[in-house]
Amino acid sequence: MKQWVKKLVDQLDMDWNSSSSPHEKKSETPPLSEERATLVYFLDVYNKNLFEIQNHSVRKVRAKMDTFAKEIVHAKNADSLNDTLFRLRQFISSYRIDEYSFVQNTIDDFKRIIWDFADNLSEEAHSEQASQGEIDASLAQLREAVESNSVEELRAKSREFIDLYVKNQSVSHERRSKRMESVKKNLNSVKRQLMEANQTMRRDHLTGAHNRRSYDEQIKRYLQLNELDKDPITLVMLDIDFFKKINDNYGHDIGDFILQECVRMLQESFAREEDFIARLGGEEFAIILPGCDANSAVKIVEGAMARIRKEVFIHGDHQIRFTVSMGIAPLIPGESADNWYKRADAALYESKTTGRNKYTVAGANSTKNVA
Ligand code: GH3
Ligand code: MG
Ligand code: MG
Repeated sequence: MKQWVKKLVDQLDMDWNSSSSPHEKKSETPPLSEERATLVYFLDVYNKNLFEIQNHSVRKVRAKMDTFAKEIVHAKNADSLNDTLFRLRQFISSYRIDEYSFVQNTIDDFKRIIWDFADNLSEEAHSEQASQGEIDASLAQLREAVESNSVEELRAKSREFIDLYVKNQSVSHERRSKRMESVKKNLNSVKRQLMEANQTMRRDHLTGAHNRRSYDEQIKRYLQLNELDKDPITLVMLDIDFFKKINDNYGHDIGDFILQECVRMLQESFAREEDFIARLGGEEFAIILPGCDANSAVKIVEGAMARIRKEVFIHGDHQIRFTVSMGIAPLIPGESADNWYKRADAALYESKTTGRNKYTVAGANSTKNVA
């Protein structure tokens, strides 16, 4: 099996043992052709970028995609592979339609506002034209009255004109303020909806942490900013140790609860307003610490680890503890987002392979490991 395929299979958050063939005793990952691996890779990327839409919870879609990925890996012959691919196509097309309509609806609200606004404006222009006509006629009469030299008529026409003018002004003022009020109301409601949609698109639905999409956007912003301000900034990768055992021992719901609690702990530990916590997938998190060099990041990380180590998480009758491993990578000015991530990830990997429950600081080329 090619190296990248093996790495992909190892990285996927899948329980290969509970495959469709329960008689298989082997716990190793199955061999995989490059074509199937590519498709599984696509599913994994799609999975990490899901957002909550009506009728499809991210969790259910993710579970479904995982099942498809497993079936693709384990399909024994062309028929069963084709069957899976057929169902996958069906699922993706119906899901894409819902995803599309969700975005479409949000855009529709915008279109409605612009439509209303344009409508109102043209109505106003028309009625202003009509009133202008009345005013013009009244002005002409007034001029006639001046020319006729009749004081009585002049007085009457002046009064008539002033009344008409005042009435017109107040009607158009009232209309304008009513229109502004309704536009403001519409705009506020769309603004709220868009903000909510934006939030759900950028948040992980289970834990409330930022999601991968949000991480990708944020990291780019920070790299741009760093070119200007040159302030130190550190990326921390974190992975819960033996998380699969928590799922296996207590069930998936408690696994979910632990993920939520983990984010709560991280929010308490990395509590500055500028600290950015994202769930990149499964039980893996990234934390961006602006303004922190290696030393100050290490101090905060040590605090977080100590806090997590000593906490007992209670769910029903269960008392659960867990630990985490971390990789710390202060930014090397000028490096790419990808390189930065890779160094942090390699440092995390170092912590994992040398005992877990520890952090490792990534150097430019080497890592320093601390239990
Ligand atoms: P390690 O110490 O090497 O990190 O071991 P681990 O068991 O933590 O890591 P592994 O990658 O083997 O297992 C991660 C597990 O996380 C497997 C997957 O089923 C589970 N998982 C992924 N996403 C979720 C989720 O949203 N909820 C729950 N409950 N489990 C999840
Ligand atoms: Mg883990
Ligand atoms: Mg993991």
